[in-house]
Amino acid sequence: MNIILFGPPGAGKGTQAEYIVNHFGLAHLSTGNMFRSAIQNETPLGIKVKSILDAGELVSDDVVVDLVQEETTKDMYLAGCVFDGFPRTVAQAESFDHMLANKNTAVDALISLVVPEEELINRILSRGQGRSDDTVEGVKKRLTVYENETKPVLDYYEKQGLVNVIDGTGSVESVFERIKNVI
Ligand code: ADP
Repeated sequence: MNIILFGPPGAGKGTQAEYIVNHFGLAHLSTGNMFRSAIQNETPLGIKVKSILDAGELVSDDVVVDLVQEETTKDMYLAGCVFDGFPRTVAQAESFDHMLANKNTAVDALISLVVPEEELINRILSRGQGRSDDTVEGVKKRLTVYENETKPVLDYYEKQGLVNVIDGTGSVESVFERIKNVI
């Protein structure tokens, strides 16, 4: 089972992804976590993407797609995966569909977490994870990028009938209950 966990920054993708993988025994692939780990370890990829993440902009599609392509060759992804923060552009979604088709698999569902913008901003600014992009400007930039570049991914998967809209407000447990019902 391959699930895309979709939503703006601060919607709770990372938190819910952990709940889903523990409950359903799936792998978890977060492109944001992969980039942050590369930056921390000062790998060539990390050095290349650091200023992009700090600015709240998107890493280029070919870099992201190559990274996911390589990562998903590992056996741990065979039973299925929660994709968190990917695909984030329509071009990434198209490449992703081809990538999965080559492995004789496909996206089974997209779960779209919906949270009002004021709450997104409050959540991010109060989560205190020490992320260098969690500043007022960083959050505003990421929300703008989400609106312009990422939201069209919803229409792309809507055409395939895969979109499930979930209310992302309330307790972590109540949001997870809604997700479990959909899955
Ligand atoms: P958030 O949802 O809070 O913005 P993520 O951890 O998903 O956090 O992403 C952090 C940053 O990593 C993004 O702002 C972007 O710079 C980069 N990034 C992550 N995933 C992608 C992707 N699929 N395509 C392009 N850039 C990405």
